[in-house]
Amino acid sequence: MERSDSQYAQGKLAELKAEYQVDVLADWGDGESEWKSGTWTKAELDRLHNAIGLVADAMGGSEQFVQNLHGVTVRKADIGSHGGEALSHRVSLSTKGTFSAWTVVHEFAHAWDANYDWRLSRQLERYTGGFTNPLFSLMKRLAGLSDSGFLSPEKKPGRYGRRPGCNAAGYFYGDRPSGSNWSFNRKEDFAESVAMYIGWEKGNDLSEHARNRIVRYQLNNGEKDPFNIIDNWLDYAKSFYPESGDYTKTKRWQFVDELVKGRINVA
Ligand SMILES: [Zn+2]
Repeated sequence: MERSDSQYAQGKLAELKAEYQVDVLADWGDGESEWKSGTWTKAELDRLHNAIGLVADAMGGSEQFVQNLHGVTVRKADIGSHGGEALSHRVSLSTKGTFSAWTVVHEFAHAWDANYDWRLSRQLERYTGGFTNPLFSLMKRLAGLSDSGFLSPEKKPGRYGRRPGCNAAGYFYGDRPSGSNWSFNRKEDFAESVAMYIGWEKGNDLSEHARNRIVRYQLNNGEKDPFNIIDNWLDYAKSFYPESGDYTKTKRWQFVDELVKGRINVA
């Protein structure tokens, strides 16, 4: 943060607090003798504010957002290889490089789920017809039915661990998620489903990412997707590509839609 932007930044922080009960831990300011610029930029504060606004709009407004999250502190931190991390009242964004609107929404979705003791992701799992069973997963790998290595994914097409249950958690997702990998589990599924719901065909900061998630299943095997990953996309289309390429036809989209409209019992 440049000193010349610090007044703007203070205003943004005040807005985030007033509208959403979101506190940003400022790492910039007057140091001992000179200006401490920290890791945040003005553009990142804008991106954060806009992304939180998208989550709140999907929930039905800032009041609903505050009721669902009960206050969140956002900080930049060294969190290893992850882009973000979330607890019920804290979202951490990596100090390594910047973050996307997608990451913000993904992490706030985790925080939302955490506020409900992770029942939202359990409900998603049930609603979509999935289940978690590490023993089944192990058997699937033993039987050679997995698209991963035995104890880890392999970095080559068709071996990243995308099939149901072929992941560290033994998560057998139901219906059609927008993607899956070795780290997939019901919590990640929930966070990604919220981001997909918010971005899908809405013309916002998440929409291009959401669209890229789906169009890649129209590629041929061995082609590079918009995220620069080479995989056997054609083979995976039957597990991930929604009916007519329309993500609103998936059970995940429908679940999040029902959830934000208050039609799912989350008590
Ligand atoms: Zn996550």
